[in-house]
Amino acid sequence: MSKEDLECSFCGRKKAETNLLIAGLDAHICDRCIEQAHGIVVEEALHSTNSELSKELMLKKPKLIKEFLDDYVIGQEHTKKVMSVAVYNHYKRLLQPKTDDDIEIQKSNIIIVGQTGTGKTLVAKTIARMLNVPLAIVDATVLTEAGYVGEDVESILTRLLQAADYNVEKAQNGIVFIDEIDKIARKSDNPSITRDVSGEGVQQALLKLLEGTTVNVPPKGGRKHPDQKFIEVDTENILFIAGGAFDGIERHISKRLNMQAVGFSASKKEDFLQRDNMLRYIIPKDLKDFGLIPEIIGRLPVLTYMDPLDKGTLRAILTEPKNAIIKQYKKLFEMDGIDFVITQEALDFIVEQAIEYKLGARGLRSLCEAVLTDAMYELPSTDDKTLNVTKEYAQEKLSKSTIKKLKAVS
Ligand code: ADP
Repeated sequence: MSKEDLECSFCGRKKAETNLLIAGLDAHICDRCIEQAHGIVVEEALHSTNSELSKELMLKKPKLIKEFLDDYVIGQEHTKKVMSVAVYNHYKRLLQPKTDDDIEIQKSNIIIVGQTGTGKTLVAKTIARMLNVPLAIVDATVLTEAGYVGEDVESILTRLLQAADYNVEKAQNGIVFIDEIDKIARKSDNPSITRDVSGEGVQQALLKLLEGTTVNVPPKGGRKHPDQKFIEVDTENILFIAGGAFDGIERHISKRLNMQAVGFSASKKEDFLQRDNMLRYIIPKDLKDFGLIPEIIGRLPVLTYMDPLDKGTLRAILTEPKNAIIKQYKKLFEMDGIDFVITQEALDFIVEQAIEYKLGARGLRSLCEAVLTDAMYELPSTDDKTLNVTKEYAQEKLSKSTIKKLKAVS
C-alpha cells in the first residue's frame, strides 16, 4: 500500500485529508480522532472522580466526621457535632437522586460565632482536609459592592478555583470559609442615609452566591486583567461557612434573655443562665439585632458558637492534636537526632503566659518559638543529643525575649 493510500482506522479519512496520521501496530489514527478520544478520556476521568467523591462521602457518617475533627480540634464539642451533621446533610443533598416528591433539601450553610483564635478557621480547614475538597478562606472585610474599590464578591470564587487548580467540577463541590462576616453588618438602622458599600451592599451581593447561582468568574480575579475569559461556576453545591467574633453580641443576647425572663426572680435567672459563655444562647434574631440582614441569616441556617479557650483547653492544644505544636518541635529536633523533652511544669508555664498576655491559642506558637529558638540555633552544631526544657529553662528564655511585644502583634 502506498503512503497516500493510508487511512485512519477510526474515521476512514485518507492521509491527505488529515494533518497528521500516526501509525500503530496494525492501525492508524488521525489528529481529529486523537482529539476526540482525548475528550472522552477527560470526561470519563471527571466522572470517575465524581463517583469516587460520592462513595467516599457517603461513607463518612456524622460520628466519623466528628471523630476526625476530634483529632485536630480540642473542645468545641457543640460546634463539632453541629457541623458534622451539617456537612453530612450537605453532601446527602448533593447526592440525592432526582425524585418527583417535590421535597427539596435546603442548603446547610453554616455560621459560627466565636471570639477570634478559638478555632473557627481550623474547623473549616479540617473538614475540607477530611473531605479532600478545595477550600477558599476569604475575609469579608475586603469585599465591596461591584464597582467600588475593593474586591467583588465573585473574587471568592476565583480563590476557590485557584484552590481547585482550576478544576471547575472540584471547585463546585468545595468549601468557602468567609471570615469576619460580622464586619459587614449594617452600621446603622437607617440604611438610606448614606450608601453602605462595604456593609449591607456586600450582604446583598453575597445572597445569590450563598443560595446557589451561576456566576461568571474572572479566573485571575480583580479588574487588572480586563481581557481574561470568564469561567462559569455554579455555587449550588458549594458549602459556605461564615465566621465572626460579633463583639458585643452578648449584650443583645442578655437583653433578650432578660426580657424573656421577666417574672422569674433574679436568683432563678442566674441559675438558668451559664454566664461564662453567653454565646451558647445565641439565636438568629441576635444576628439580626447585630446588623445582619434577615436574608443572609436565612441562607446560613446552621448557627453555632465557639467556647472561649480556658486554661485546660490551651494546655491540651499544645500537645494533643494530631499536629500539635509540641509534636511538631519534637519532629524538627528528631531530624537532627536530638531527643526533645519538655516537662509538665514548663508546658503549664507557657499556658499561663499565653493567658496573662491574652495571646490565646495563636500565642502558644510564638511563646514556644521564643523558648526554643536558642536551642534550635545552637544544638544542630553541637554533639548534644538531648534537650530537656524545664520551667526554669522556659522562664529564662522568655525573660530574655521581648514577650510583651507579642501582645501587640497577636
Ligand atoms: P479563628 O478562626 O477562630 O480566629 P483559628 O482557627 O484561626 O481561629 O485558630 C488559630 C490557631 O489556634 C489555630 O491554627 C490552631 O493552631 C489554634 N487553635 C485555636 N482553637 C483551637 C482548638 N479548639 N483546638 C486546637 N487548636 C486550636
